[in-house]
Amino acid sequence: MKTVFFDIDTQIDFMFPAGALYAPGAEKILPTVARLNHQAAKHRIPLISTMDAHSENDPEFVQWPHHCVVETLGQRKPASTLLEKYVVVPNAPCAVPLAEQILLEKQTFSALSNVNFARLLDHFQAERYIVYGVVTEVCVKFAAFGLLETGQRVEIVTDAICALSDENGAQTLADFQAAGGYLTHAGMIYA
Ligand SMILES: [Zn+2]
Repeated sequence: MKTVFFDIDTQIDFMFPAGALYAPGAEKILPTVARLNHQAAKHRIPLISTMDAHSENDPEFVQWPHHCVVETLGQRKPASTLLEKYVVVPNAPCAVPLAEQILLEKQTFSALSNVNFARLLDHFQAERYIVYGVVTEVCVKFAAFGLLETGQRVEIVTDAICALSDENGAQTLADFQAAGGYLTHAGMIYA
């Protein structure tokens, strides 16, 4: 089954206690996220790693604390989650790059907001999407529900996600299943 992995927003500001918008416990999923990313490379599965890329005065900061401002340390991805060959795709029209990891920049919650998103999906023609990262009830949710609209199989990796609030995270997973999505574990994807 043609598969694409989506590693959502696993950036320093979300993943570590000193980060600007830390999801409690997020650092604990980091080894699993890193393993999944490297498994993608090993099995030649396209990996799309989304990244918040905010400006200093981003409209999102009305609702949320400053986070993932371009060129800050907090906006970067931990080294363990980066593959050898990655390429940054800004939110501006550009050619679909051939790289084992695509760092897809975005300014809003949804990965689909990058203007190259539809073209990327067209290019890969996947029948299955594996989604993980942070935070469950915001950007993971937007990506997973957005991908469900393609009509293909979408799976959230429950041991490779982290929520800001456990209750909201659990509600998101319940809603996702009710909408036709599947839950899985990292160990079930590739042994
Ligand atoms: Zn953001």
